[in-house]
Amino acid sequence: MKIDLINEAHRCLNCKKPLCKIHCPISTDIPHIINLFKDNKISEAGEVLFYNNPLSIFCSIVCPHEEQCKGHCIKGIKDTPVDFPLIEKEISSQYLLNLPTKKKEKNNINVAIIGGGPAGITSAILLAKEGFNVTIFEAFSKLGGVLRYGIPDFRLSRELIDTFEEYLLNLGVKIKYNTLVGPTHTIQNLKDDGFKYIIITTGVWNPKPMRIKGETKGDIHYAINYLVSPESYRLGKRVLVIGGGNVAMDAARVAKRFGSDVTIMYRRAQEDMPATKVEIAEAKEDGIDFKFYYSPKEILDDTMVFLRTESKIDEYGKRNLITLEDSDIAISYNSIIVAVSQGPKKNIVSSEDRISTEKWGTIVVDDNFETTLTNVFSCGDVVTGPKTVVAAVNDTKNMVNNILRKEKLI
Ligand code: FAD
Repeated sequence: MKIDLINEAHRCLNCKKPLCKIHCPISTDIPHIINLFKDNKISEAGEVLFYNNPLSIFCSIVCPHEEQCKGHCIKGIKDTPVDFPLIEKEISSQYLLNLPTKKKEKNNINVAIIGGGPAGITSAILLAKEGFNVTIFEAFSKLGGVLRYGIPDFRLSRELIDTFEEYLLNLGVKIKYNTLVGPTHTIQNLKDDGFKYIIITTGVWNPKPMRIKGETKGDIHYAINYLVSPESYRLGKRVLVIGGGNVAMDAARVAKRFGSDVTIMYRRAQEDMPATKVEIAEAKEDGIDFKFYYSPKEILDDTMVFLRTESKIDEYGKRNLITLEDSDIAISYNSIIVAVSQGPKKNIVSSEDRISTEKWGTIVVDDNFETTLTNVFSCGDVVTGPKTVVAAVNDTKNMVNNILRKEKLI
């Protein structure tokens, strides 16, 4: 394995203008890391990676690499691209065995982080290392957010997330599990109890409905709820998954592993699917069936009715989706899983009207990631809407730097 990776590292052309780095959302210095790896300076490479991106191990596994580093590798034009994610995974895995617990002296500033997903974990690591007293409030019984309760374990090992949970405890971070902030504790309660800074990283856990007749029936589920505990569902043999994003792919692949025959129903063409090519290919390898140009119309007791659609190029060359009238087609099902996007829940903002939100519930922040309430910051999916792990980590780094600037610590 190691030998292969060294050979892989030697394939890097060390481009003067490294497109891999330019297209990495967190600007990982890929050529530098590869050079350190070639020189067997694994621990130094791990340090550089971790300093730039504390969640590099997760990013090496779940980033949409074909749109980022790998997809822009010059080697990929005539040959296969350099597999930097595998090299990053190897370095980060080794670094994980000895994560740095060195911290600055305590500064006695209390910070409450609401949400223990990628943005919350990154905030906690960066602020604890700077000497802040950090408490994470997490609604679930474990940390990780989507890493643990969304992305299936065949894609991402839960042990990796456990390592970070242990690491945070070693850094002195307090974690309040099973604590949904909003209904019981409000933002004002946290302020009253001496938390100078409050960081909201609560993600997007409100499934968007299709808003069609029959959607409240007992066999209709939402993908992000299903993925939290798929073992508690009895889906039956014939499962339809509605949607074309990565969440739809994950839900379909999990349902397949629980023994169902799964068909993904999508209202546009395959090339319009927001899921990455890799995820679509892996779903196909798993035996998931795909049907394109089916638009949901109504759910009856044993069948779901769709209208057929087609793409038409208009006079300006734009591709439009046309729904074909009277094209009703009924498909039988035992269960339906809906995966047509998510938005933020309102637990926090419904008890704190000084925090403004956009139309779809995402939290409004300024350029420093501060909300409309002083000293309350926010980042990750709850601000941007559904994005990626690396985007959440990158925004978190910038947000933490703004808090450090406010405290004149940098
Ligand atoms: P989250 O990960 O959602 O974490 C938010 C945390 O806040 C959760 O733990 C939640 O329980 C907690 N919380 C919410 N409300 C409260 C409250 N009121 N009080 C206390 N705690 C609260 N991205 C990729 O880069 N690659 C992928 O392969 C990928 N696959 C995905 C698959 C699925 C099924 C899903 C849903 C998303 C996927 N994503 C992927 C997107 C990525 O996981 C998210 O962009 C990322 O997790 C956002 O991090 P976050 O910290 O903002 O939010």
